[in-house]
Amino acid sequence: MNAERKPTTTIVIDAKSGFCFGVSKAIKTAEAHLQKGGELTSLGDIVHNEEEIKRLREKGLHSVGLSDLSTSNSPKVLFRAHGEPPSSYETIKAAGKEIIDATCPVVLKLQQRIFKAWQEIKMVKGQIVIYGKKNHAEVIGLSGQTNNEAIVVQSSADLHLVDASKKTILFAQTTMSQSGLEEMEGWLRAHLHNPQDLTVHKTICAQVGNRVPHLKEFAKQYQVIIFVGGRKSSNGKVLYEVCRSVNPHSHFVSGIEEIQPSWLNPAPASIGICGATSTPQWLMEHVAEKVHSLLSQDLP
Ligand code: SF4
Repeated sequence: MNAERKPTTTIVIDAKSGFCFGVSKAIKTAEAHLQKGGELTSLGDIVHNEEEIKRLREKGLHSVGLSDLSTSNSPKVLFRAHGEPPSSYETIKAAGKEIIDATCPVVLKLQQRIFKAWQEIKMVKGQIVIYGKKNHAEVIGLSGQTNNEAIVVQSSADLHLVDASKKTILFAQTTMSQSGLEEMEGWLRAHLHNPQDLTVHKTICAQVGNRVPHLKEFAKQYQVIIFVGGRKSSNGKVLYEVCRSVNPHSHFVSGIEEIQPSWLNPAPASIGICGATSTPQWLMEHVAEKVHSLLSQDLP
């Protein structure tokens, strides 16, 4: 969307920001079930975006943690794009509920690869290392493929957990940064007794990876950047930092009420609005409308 406003500010929403296909598919799956009537329970928040969760809650989608499952009356439980460990499948089945599996196909494939690698590396007493956020839902699902024997590393501070004498297969959570994965690979090669014992699978999702170079270019083109994302979105944090690295006038908001009039005074020549893979298009449009309306007022 492009809109010209008083006197010369150009407001542009990045056409490549917004839901990735995995999140989009999960939300469409939830909406299709909600349209049939009744409530639906999602295991954990369906997307790391509070505004979108609010919108879906009004349609009957409620989220619960696995330990609170008994509080839900819904006979169906939706697994979100992040995926779940095998134990969640067993728990839901044991509770007599139907699973609506909206795991992203990319995550599903990664789970299968990790399971296969674990089966193989076990035979030579090796180890699986996952570069990711320790308590992130996707990582819990990935680690579950290895009976939670995988070593999760988030930074070099976790390297002591890795046995330097063992054959090692490294995977990454799909939303980690490419540069972080390269750093982790470098650290592991330096740390292992035999660097050739390391096999690396570059499993950052292309939907995320491709956005980094694109956003770098996008953020350079505008005087001010407003990045729209959920506070819990790991992808949002990574992509916002990408914007900030090339444009110091980048601001993070999770909703329109967080837009500061001081960012718009004096009125910038141009404002770029972008977001994470979990940011709904409608929210970026609301932000653009709010910016437009603030610019129309006499700002303090
Ligand atoms: S970022 Fe990639 S892996 Fe993650 S949900 Fe989206 S499409 Fe799937």
